[in-house]
Amino acid sequence: MFGKILIANRGEIACRVIRTARRMGIRTVAVYSDADAEAMHVQAADEAYPIGPAPAGESYLRGDVIIEVARKAGAEAVHPGYGFLSENADFAEACTNAGLVFIGPPRDAIRAMGSKSEAKAIMERAGVPTVPGYHQHNLDLKLLANEARRTGFPVIIKAVAGGGGRGMRIVRRELDLADMIKAARREAASAFGDDRIIMEKYLRQPRHIEVQVFLDNAGEGVYLFERDCSIQRRHQKIVEEAPAPRLDDEKRAAFGDTALQAAKAIGYVGAGTVEFIVDAAGNFYFMEMNTRLQVEHPVTEFITGHDLVEWQIRVAAGEPLPARQDDLSINGHAIEARIYAEDPDRQFTPSVGRIVHMRMPAETDGVRVDTGVREGDAVSPYYDPMIAKLVVWDVDRAAAVRRMRSALDECQIVGVRTNIAFLSAVVRHGNFASGEIDTGFVDRFREELLPEPTPVSDRVLALAGLDILLRREDARRRTAEATGDPYSPWHAANAWRLNGAAIETLHFLDGETAIAVSVRHTGSGYEFGLPGGAMTVSGRRGDDLVADLDGVKLGANVVPHGDALTVHLQGVARRLTVVDPLAVEDLAESADGRMTAPMPGKVTQVSVEDGAVVKRGAPLLVLEAMKMEHTIAAPADGKVEKVNFGVGDWVEEGSVLVAFAAD
Ligand code: ADP
Repeated sequence: MFGKILIANRGEIACRVIRTARRMGIRTVAVYSDADAEAMHVQAADEAYPIGPAPAGESYLRGDVIIEVARKAGAEAVHPGYGFLSENADFAEACTNAGLVFIGPPRDAIRAMGSKSEAKAIMERAGVPTVPGYHQHNLDLKLLANEARRTGFPVIIKAVAGGGGRGMRIVRRELDLADMIKAARREAASAFGDDRIIMEKYLRQPRHIEVQVFLDNAGEGVYLFERDCSIQRRHQKIVEEAPAPRLDDEKRAAFGDTALQAAKAIGYVGAGTVEFIVDAAGNFYFMEMNTRLQVEHPVTEFITGHDLVEWQIRVAAGEPLPARQDDLSINGHAIEARIYAEDPDRQFTPSVGRIVHMRMPAETDGVRVDTGVREGDAVSPYYDPMIAKLVVWDVDRAAAVRRMRSALDECQIVGVRTNIAFLSAVVRHGNFASGEIDTGFVDRFREELLPEPTPVSDRVLALAGLDILLRREDARRRTAEATGDPYSPWHAANAWRLNGAAIETLHFLDGETAIAVSVRHTGSGYEFGLPGGAMTVSGRRGDDLVADLDGVKLGANVVPHGDALTVHLQGVARRLTVVDPLAVEDLAESADGRMTAPMPGKVTQVSVEDGAVVKRGAPLLVLEAMKMEHTIAAPADGKVEKVNFGVGDWVEEGSVLVAFAAD
């Protein structure tokens, strides 16, 4: 067994690999970019080395630098995690050449599966069914149009080197084919440095079911059952579970055998995932093979009771598989929800910023939290915006769903937008509860999953007001204690004034709606005037706010940040802006006519010139940020007065991209 390994990754997966290595008595070496000097994975490792500037291309993707660190630190093996260099055959080879063990499959297996077109050809030869389509590289439009017609619309275009749902385009009619191919190729070139594409039949409402396989150097192989990853947004998984609901044992065994056959066809060694797409009739087709550990591997660990990272390390060290197929069985049900820093109301655009408050459920036998960030850490634009994976287990699916609901209710993250409320809505949906899931779930139920905001409740307003008043009292007490005269009436913060009732008003903004809450100080607490009427309010503040609202006792957590407050009550987070009455007019003024960058990123395309007259919705420029393309479109009919950036420019969040004059 190895004495020391290097983890060529960051964030939650680096922390996760370190945890298992430590348990196995293996020392760990972390690497970090300039942006990650204080990161959690750096502190978790036994030692950590700098590898370059924040952009991944200059640090986490620098295989040469990482191998040099491994040598210097005396590591014997390299675990690549997922993403970054994990599916880079050249890196795997370079490790071997440097005398390091790459904890992953052989170079040739990575290469074979790295190309979606080659992978399909290999699988077809091995007798594994693939989605009908066109997998050659000829780009002749006429030929592609013919093929698309033969396959039948809609078709999906994918990057040969693709991953993470990027570079895919669904084409519903022939008219759009040329444009979609162009767009897919542009995105593929910028994302993967390879603009080759394939085209296949776009299946309606399919399920994504994948099989975890594991093979050792002696050619032995097992499957550790399947995961259903049908709940996706933008073709990216967000909720995964094992085993797959509504799948009988016969089908399960067929999936497992086919997957293992696929892995054996390429001489696979180590952990791999064979992804299938399953149509409404239950036919399954090979989609691709991921030659690494998957983000969603914890659900498999929960139902099988095996640590897949330990398996990876053992197999890489030359040991046989820790279990045979007959030893493996499914116990209970596990679900994972990926918590992202993103804004579901803005097409799930990543959200960057500092996490000012973070609270996750306690880990138990049935709850696991894999994360790489802590309160106070920043979510930067450089890397994947996933904050944590919340994973639950229970005896059956219904119990696991309930456990996930309450675990999500306990998650509190303030400072960046998150998808927590959205995930809660997903696992509370009736169709999710009954296991009726497919990859169209999120789009189909969008309105239920992303409801229009309702007006803030009196309860939440009362909690926000109470928190402000209690904090003010605390501050006053501290000031008073600091002066020599703690009992002076001049330290009072209770709106007491000469010749007047002790009444004041708190001003909030709920979205755009201004709300005034009147406060009368009584001896023991307050009398609030709220939109729905009067309420008697009192309470105290510790880690949480303990409130008494008209006699009802409630626990809540209120987090002030900037000019806002986030109230967490019974699993729901509600953000309110606290308005200084003198500043109301400033807030009401909007930044009309200036189109700003929603996040830091790079301008990849400018479609208009200064002075252009455009229609509402016309694309003006394309910004690439956090691994996605964002088209900045004209908000109205009008004139582009000035485009402030050119292709290749890096822009900060809030930069004015275009000066625009609406008609
Ligand atoms: P990536 O490698 O970018 O993750 P995949 O090929 O694994 O891309 O596909 C990701 C997701 O896109 C799938 O889980 C599925 O939801 C959707 N998808 C891919 N191919 C098809 C198809 N032929 N028909 C319908 N949906 C598809």
